[in-house]
Amino acid sequence: MKKKIMIIIVIVLLLCLLGFSLFLFFYNNLERKLKNIGYTNEEVAIILNKVPHESYNEVLNLGYNKSLINILSAKNYLDSNFDLYLNYYMKNKDEDINNIITIMNYNADLINLPASDLLANLVQEKYYINDKVTRYLDYGNSQNVDAKKVIAIVNSNADLGFYNSIYESNLNDNNLILVNKFYALKNDYVPSDLITLSGQYNRAFNNKMRKEAADSFMNMVDAAKLDNIILYNVSAYRDYAYQENLYNIYIKKDGKDEADKYSARPGHSEHQTGLSLDINNISDDFENSDEAVWLQNNAYKYGFILRFPKGKEDITGYKYEPWHYRYVGIEAAKVIYDDDITLEEYYAYYIENTSN
Ligand SMILES: [Zn+2]
Repeated sequence: MKKKIMIIIVIVLLLCLLGFSLFLFFYNNLERKLKNIGYTNEEVAIILNKVPHESYNEVLNLGYNKSLINILSAKNYLDSNFDLYLNYYMKNKDEDINNIITIMNYNADLINLPASDLLANLVQEKYYINDKVTRYLDYGNSQNVDAKKVIAIVNSNADLGFYNSIYESNLNDNNLILVNKFYALKNDYVPSDLITLSGQYNRAFNNKMRKEAADSFMNMVDAAKLDNIILYNVSAYRDYAYQENLYNIYIKKDGKDEADKYSARPGHSEHQTGLSLDINNISDDFENSDEAVWLQNNAYKYGFILRFPKGKEDITGYKYEPWHYRYVGIEAAKVIYDDDITLEEYYAYYIENTSN
């Protein structure tokens, strides 16, 4: 019995030794082959250290390739993506290795798109949405703007041209309902929970807002007062017919192109949502007033956003309106304020986009 066990142990040991010898033989063989191809000792060490075993043959078939070493030495290199990098590199031999690494690390589905600087910059942006990549590239390649701007324009649909494609606003979005030059309300839409702003909170004929927005506005007015800032409504809820009349007056006065820059077409006005209002003074002069500055710094705390900011005209489709605020709720308002984005961009990423 003891003898049998001894024999089994010896056989097992011999098999281990054989396996180890075979491993050493092939390993040394690979090392020798790599050196024959032209890799330096240092490069051979990098290859043996980083290339997955199952990809050794691919590396040998490639012949000497300095780019391979650059891929393996790149900052964000991941062993598990080696085959992807290699495939993508074969299609993009002239592109920056770091672009290849960055793009493949983000999403292997991008393998058929050129490894351009633009694409690499796009995928690193917070509000990048993979479904929109073709539109990003089309817009980015035709306009001289940075990746962040490309994403803002495309996410807001502004690349499609204002009023070119019109969808119905989704009433289920509640406080986050989007009404703009792409999304419209029906002519008979009237919010069901309008309440009247009165007393110190109002100085206007259009004095209704949806309840939650009105309550938040009144809280904000009360808080501002403690800072010696007096705020009041000058135009809140406006129905479809009112906006239609207003827009037609503006067209007669300035023409359609000009009117579209500062006034919404009927159904496209946020004032019809009962979530927007104009505060204190509908005038460009309001911009530098203490009241406007206070609003810019504090409104988000009460769930309001400056809806048509300066420098975002090409995204919102409206010129800067320092007086026009929109209620979206505190959570969304904080993101929009912190990240300096528009409601359009927020909506595309957090509401419409199902892939993140
Ligand atoms: Zn307004």
